[in-house]
Amino acid sequence: MGDLESFRKLGITETTIAALQRKGFEEPSPIQAAVIPLLLAGEKDVIGQAQTGTGKTAAFGIPVIETLKTSKKHVQALIMTPTRELTIQIAEELNSLKGDRGLKIAPVYGGQSIEIQLSKLRTGVDIVVGTPGRLMDLMERKALDISKVSFAILDEADEMLSMGFAEDIENILSVTPEDKKMLMFSATMPSAILNIASRFMREYEIVNVKRDTT
Ligand code: AMP
Repeated sequence: MGDLESFRKLGITETTIAALQRKGFEEPSPIQAAVIPLLLAGEKDVIGQAQTGTGKTAAFGIPVIETLKTSKKHVQALIMTPTRELTIQIAEELNSLKGDRGLKIAPVYGGQSIEIQLSKLRTGVDIVVGTPGRLMDLMERKALDISKVSFAILDEADEMLSMGFAEDIENILSVTPEDKKMLMFSATMPSAILNIASRFMREYEIVNVKRDTT
């Protein structure tokens, strides 16, 4: 059994350490060791080149959960993903990482009744995870306000672009505050990814770790 000391050294608080312990995590994966301190410091944005299975969800999930306040009355973090499956998976991972923090997480995606998602959003949520098309739909219905987020995260950004979501992504990001912290994960680095970075990111760092299975 690891004692999670290597997670503590990254600056993670005991509430989250306890959640990691319950999940059976013992030490950070390479992408986590690289990304968590950068996002916690918050001075630079991050593009991470990482595949599924590298622990990329916790790499952004831990700093988001550590940074958000539970007292805010608006959406504080927006996470975009290409598919319903990934949306659900990320929401579940965040729920297991948040420990006893009162953060509310809403997964939104096409194929589920929009009414369910509308009523969840009406109760007030801290983190919204969703697919670009459904996010746009909810924004157009004035049910989702992302104008005050402190984090915008794009997971599998290259996948979203190849599925034709470029315009939705740009429309969504242009509503977010300029001083938000932003992170993109992408397995490949086409120029469209760097274009999004130059339009919507602050100063950023590219993190590339070798494939590693946790
Ligand atoms: P992901 O790449 O984010 O889809 O994560 C793949 C799987 O690895 C998930 O089931 C995570 O809960 C698990 N995982 C992520 N980070 C760690 C870690 N540091 N130690 C053990 N398991 C992990």
